Amino acid sequence: MEKLALFGGKPVRKKFLVFGAPDIREKEIEEVVKTLKSGWLSTGPRVARFEEDFKNYIGCKYAITLNSCTAGLHLALEIARIGKGDKVITSPLTFASTANVIIHQGATPVFIDVEKETGNIDPNKIQDYLKLRTPNSELRTRLKAIIPVHLYGRPCRMDEIMKIAKENSLFVIEDAAHAVEARYKNKKIGNIGHLTAFSFYATKNVVTGEGGMLTTNNDEWAKKLRVLRLHGLSKDAWKRYSQEGFTPYDILYPGYKYNMMDIQAALGIHQLKRVEENLKMREKYFRLYNQAFAKIPEIETPIEEKNIRHARHLYTILLKLERLKCDRNQFAVALQAENIGIGIHFLALHLSSYYKKRFGYKRGDFPNAEYISDRTISLSLSTKLTEEDINDVMDAVRKVIRHYKR
Ligand SMILES: *Cc1c(COP(=O)(O)O)cnc(C)c1O
Repeated sequence: MEKLALFGGKPVRKKFLVFGAPDIREKEIEEVVKTLKSGWLSTGPRVARFEEDFKNYIGCKYAITLNSCTAGLHLALEIARIGKGDKVITSPLTFASTANVIIHQGATPVFIDVEKETGNIDPNKIQDYLKLRTPNSELRTRLKAIIPVHLYGRPCRMDEIMKIAKENSLFVIEDAAHAVEARYKNKKIGNIGHLTAFSFYATKNVVTGEGGMLTTNNDEWAKKLRVLRLHGLSKDAWKRYSQEGFTPYDILYPGYKYNMMDIQAALGIHQLKRVEENLKMREKYFRLYNQAFAKIPEIETPIEEKNIRHARHLYTILLKLERLKCDRNQFAVALQAENIGIGIHFLALHLSSYYKKRFGYKRGDFPNAEYISDRTISLSLSTKLTEEDINDVMDAVRKVIRHYKR
């Protein structure tokens, strides 16, 4: 039996449009096959090449591959010696792992509300929070870092954030999971804060399936990070099975199993080659969505800013709920029934069970994050989509609006 749309009749699309489908081409597939035939599957020459290419793309001194962005955020906290009893400022409007890793280290996340217009952490609100400090307060000694999240690919106000960090001796660890191509005032993201973590998860702008990268300009940290990501094994441990001869290894730290495989890097090398070309395509789709929705009074579209380069990772709309007879979740269900896959980025973290229970957060604590969290819907921006697919998404949104508008 044919599936019916929520409001009866045929769905806008016959076949379900997957949200954020990875765009894997022949080059990647050939490289993976070559890797498999080479016999070197785990961390090896392709990982080294991917790191070199990525470092050159960002223009930073060091790029260290990892098996995820989460691992990168975790190692960044570890290398900055953030641990038990420490506090780290971050955004409540992010993926769980940004704050989870703070807890893994025994530290406490301190959420600061976002700007309503951008969804990025508000530097003025960080300042307000810092003013609460008294000379002897725990805040003075225990606050160690800020993790800004470049939400949807839009860079945070890094000048202000770096200034606050400098004045208060804080580390800046950037969550750039969405922001491989992003620039802030002509400075590449990945070359501004002390450490920056990128994600190559299946839906991200550069895809290795699972994977991540940590960039830094600190020589000592880079050396130690390479050791920490692979059990704490001494120098270039991956060479220990190569022809370069037998080198006995030592354990320098109780490290982690966070290394990337050559099979993953094989994908990354070719994905990175197309990164700018893909961005152009997503910029176009972003513009098309914006044009289509600008005239719809029930929808708020993303703002455009000068002096930044948005990485166009996610295209999100905000529903003006006061003009609609539904909530966001009902809207999302209706789009899915039209065979249009969508995403929600993100549900405010402070309202999730664990963070509520553990830290006593409640609704009303971060009004801007909650405003976005209640209203946001992400529409697919994948380069796998054709303009026809984009038109289907627009048609489905218009159809659902027609049905639910007041
Ligand atoms: C995807 C994502 C992460 C985690 O990336 P992984 O590579 O899956 O660990 C972290 N932060 C944000 C904002 C993300 O969207």
